[in-house]
Amino acid sequence: MEHRGVTIWLTGLSGAGKTTITSALEKELRSRGCEKLEVLDGDIVRQNLTKGLGFSKEDRNTNIRRIGFVANLLTRNGVMVIVSAISPYRDVREEVRQQIGNFVEIFVNAPLDVCEQRDVKGLYQKARAGEIQKFTGIDDPYEPPNNPEVECRTDLESLEESVDKVIGKLQELGYMSQ
Ligand code: ADP
Repeated sequence: MEHRGVTIWLTGLSGAGKTTITSALEKELRSRGCEKLEVLDGDIVRQNLTKGLGFSKEDRNTNIRRIGFVANLLTRNGVMVIVSAISPYRDVREEVRQQIGNFVEIFVNAPLDVCEQRDVKGLYQKARAGEIQKFTGIDDPYEPPNNPEVECRTDLESLEESVDKVIGKLQELGYMSQ
């Protein structure tokens, strides 16, 4: 498989399915022969690259800008980069899109009540109980993309369908061969 450098940016609420789609997509791309592939996971990045940052608007934006900076370096060196981060603010997502250029935005979308029911990490319960403040979707905003290249409705479609849609879009946009 031949491919170009590209940042595949997954945005969405906690529990929407970013991590799940990221690992399935990574596996699928590797099985198709993609060797230059890197994943930047929001939770992992916050333990090193952006350690110490909190969840104010300013800190969230710094977090995204740093992820975008690294994603840009990798992308321009021909790597397929999958970014998985809530990235709640539209303007800073647009900023990294402009910076990187080869940017495919994936809106991982499930309604808040579905994400809350899943409560994969038990964080919604904590947020509702007031144990966590500024939790996206509860007491901090999430601004959905206006024109994402792909939208994955994870409450309505299977994981395989979501991954297929992303792969199809990458091929359609010329980032990878069949
Ligand atoms: P996030 O990384 O966005 O916080 P996770 O991937 O950790 O979300 O959790 C999403 C949850 O939703 C997982 O338990 C996953 O199994 C479930 N899920 C159900 N259907 C889908 C789907 N079509 N795509 C992705 N995840 C799904």
